This record gives sequence, structure tokens and C-alpha cells, in this order.
Amino acid sequence: MAASMSGVQKWPNFTVYYTPFDNHPAKHIIEAALKEVSNRTPIRFVKRTTELNYVTILFVDGNSSPVGMKGGEQFIELNANGGQSLHELCHTLGLIHEQERSDGQQIIRTYFKADQPIDIGCYVIPIDKTGIVNPSNPNMRPACNSINLTEYDPLSIMHYTAEQGNDYGKPGQWTMVLRSNLTFYVGVQDRAKLTKLDAEGLNSFYNPWSTFRPIPGGKTNAAPTMVTYNGKLYAFWNGHKDDGIFYATNDGTGWTSQEKIPGIGTRTSPAVAVYNNKLYVTYCGWHYDGIFSVSFDGRNWAGQIQIKDFKTKHAPALASDNSNIYLAWNNEHNDGIYYSVFNGTSWTEQLKIPNVGTNNSPALAMYKGLLFAAWNGYHNDGIFYSAFNGNNWTNQQKIGDIKTYNAPALTAHPSLHNPAEENLYLAWKPIGDERIWWTNYEDTNWARQVNTVYKCKTSQALCSFQGKLFMSWQHLEDDIITHVSM
Ligand SMILES: [Zn+2]
Repeated sequence: MAASMSGVQKWPNFTVYYTPFDNHPAKHIIEAALKEVSNRTPIRFVKRTTELNYVTILFVDGNSSPVGMKGGEQFIELNANGGQSLHELCHTLGLIHEQERSDGQQIIRTYFKADQPIDIGCYVIPIDKTGIVNPSNPNMRPACNSINLTEYDPLSIMHYTAEQGNDYGKPGQWTMVLRSNLTFYVGVQDRAKLTKLDAEGLNSFYNPWSTFRPIPGGKTNAAPTMVTYNGKLYAFWNGHKDDGIFYATNDGTGWTSQEKIPGIGTRTSPAVAVYNNKLYVTYCGWHYDGIFSVSFDGRNWAGQIQIKDFKTKHAPALASDNSNIYLAWNNEHNDGIYYSVFNGTSWTEQLKIPNVGTNNSPALAMYKGLLFAAWNGYHNDGIFYSAFNGNNWTNQQKIGDIKTYNAPALTAHPSLHNPAEENLYLAWKPIGDERIWWTNYEDTNWARQVNTVYKCKTSQALCSFQGKLFMSWQHLEDDIITHVSM
């Protein structure tokens, strides 16, 4: 796809309620279509109980759906083979046919009769595929008020499939080709999958994130980090020229100007946690000579201390609960992820998360009473996680199929769909993509993988604050620290 129209209504809370369709002969194909959408967008599908707005899937000899949420009960008609399931579902979510886009006829050429290209521009004759003018068939009428969410996608799930071959001039034959390549027959190829642009278009239509904004004055060469403390959101980052660790605070109305933690510096990202009403900032020493920590009581910074003889060349990670602070780091030889626990008085000796490793930094978060660690696999072979109950780490598990060169970000935050339920959120920058992607652990899996439109240089920071999930990062073009929330 990647187009909608003005006036099309979205489904609130990224949730579509539906009547169970167990008796539909294409049940499994419909289920796969729901899964394809919920794995690649923030949208999820929930069986209806008493909700007022919902979808009922009918088994009829035909395929159709209205565009967007209509209010009350609405229908998707699907025939026995269910091949149109994903296409009709995308209509229900608000997408129109790709070839109806306002720019459609600039990209494609539609042939109705041999040697006679017919341009169907805005509000020009609607023609059906018999080649006969048929005002009652709206499907070939370009939608001049379309909202084009991505570039034109000739292979979109929402694109009509053109007839192939050279006999399109005959009665009943027609075709659509690219203007830039008259031998390229346009149209959906895989009816079970959203194309890359289909998913991006849906994610831009159902974008849960706010417009991005800079943290004033903030510039870095690494990822920022964030925490909430004394009712404010704090962001910390390594100065752009490795000239110190800077921070700014946000009380919900905007950011203060940046300040500098006196007398310290690093060449990687700092880590931050709150414990016993103090804020702890931990970082790799400027000369890679150890892991250091400073604390803040809300007014003053206490001088730095060195934590044991721990060594790293990467950013450490911190998390805390009511009992402890947890520190994790990739050791200086990249031969494993180590951790130590601070009980308010002293740090334990270094311990190792069994049988795991990375070339970057780990990420830590508390979730449902457990300490979660996530990291980029040693061979950039995926993002893995493990949970710690105070005694043991679970065996590592892989989060979907993700490839990255950078450390991920991790935090707990209420579900996008159900604020009473807490989820674990993960953000990362994929290999070959400048944009930030995210997922959340919901309904006992990490299936969802959603792109944002925000471009980043390295890793991100995630933090829950005032009921919103904040994300910040080093902006791709200018290294400015940028943030959004949802
Ligand atoms: Zn359609």
C-alpha cells in the first residue's frame, strides 16, 4: 500500500475487535493475515466481547471490506480460499488500492486496448477491466484525495494484479505496467505478506510516537541514557567531543538547559539508575582504565569512585530495584557479559552471565520483579535476552530475527493496548536500515517488529515517564540528541 484517504477513521488504541470466525473455511489463512499485521505494526486483534466497534468476517462468494473503521459492526467478506484476507484486512485498517493513489497514473500506465494507452488521471473516466466505460465500478478511479504514506509500491498487497502477456487488447484483457519499465507488470505478488512499504505505510498511518524534538543543546557521539528521579525525566550523555558527561531534566513540560557533571569524563555512553533516593551515574573511564560511578542527591554530586577493578571498553548498563543496583558490562576482552550487585554498602565481585557474549554493551531493565539483560549476539547474529532472579540467569533466548551492529535499549512500560498490563520494550537499529525499530514482549512473545520513521546513528535510550514511553537517541545527520514519546 501505502495510501489512505482523508476522512478514513483509524481503530483506537491500535486494537481491532473481531467476531470469532472459527467456521470460516479459510480460518487458518485469516489467522495468518492477522498475525502478519500484528507482527509488523502496533496493531493487534482481539476477540470481541461487548465492544461497540468490531469486525465480523463473513463467508460469501466474494471479497470486500470498507475502508477504515466505520463504527458499530462492520464486515469483511471472504470467499472459501481466503487468498484476499490480508488485502481486505488492510482495507479495514484504512488502506485504499495502490493504483487509486493520486500519483498512481504518473507511475503506472494502464492499457485497456491494444496500442492505446489510456491515462486515468484524477476524475477521469472510470473504466473496468473489460475496457468498457463503467461509471458504477469505482475501482479504477484514482483517489485524488489519497494520503500517500510511502513512495508508490507497484508490488503492494493493495495493488491490483495486472494481467501478464501481450494480448491485453483483446476483449476482457487489460494490464498495468510501470511507466519507467513498460515490460514490468505491476501488482501484488505474495498475498500472504505485507511488502516492506506496506508495513511502513501502516506504521506511518498508525504511528504511536510523537513528533521528534531535540534536547536543547544536547549533542553526543554515543547513545544517551535516561531515568526518572524525583518526578523528573533525566537524560545523560557523553559530550560530543568526549568533553564530559552532560544532562538535562524534563518535568513533563520541556527540557532544562544542559548541565555538566563536574570533573568527570568518558568516551562511551554513561549508565544511570536510581537507588535509595539517589541517582547513580556509572561510566567507563576516559582512559578505559576502569568503571567509575558518581551519585547525586538532588542537589550535589558526590566525587567519583572506582568500582572494584572492573574493566570495559564499552558503555556499562545499570538497573535497580528496592534492594540493589545491578551493574552489567562487556569485559575488556569481549569474552563475556559480567555483572556485579551493589547492596547499598559494597559491590560483589564480578560474576559472569553464563555462556553469553557480545561485542557491544548489554542493556538492563527490571520487569515483573526480575532483572532482564538484552544484548547483541557476539557474531551480530541476533538480539538475545536472559532473566535473573537473584540467583540464576535463564538460558539465553533470541528475540525474533533481528540483525544489528549496536546495543539494544530495554525498559518496562505499560502495554500500548492495555495500560494495566506491563510490557518489556526493546529498541534497536537494524543492519542496513538507518531507522529505529522497536518491539514489545506482549502475549508471551516478542513477535512484533515495528519500524519508526526516526533515523539514528547508534543505540537508543528508553524510559517510562508520566505514563508515556520516552525514547532518545543520537540523530543520524547532526548528532543532536533527539527524543519522542508514545
Ligand atoms: Zn480491494
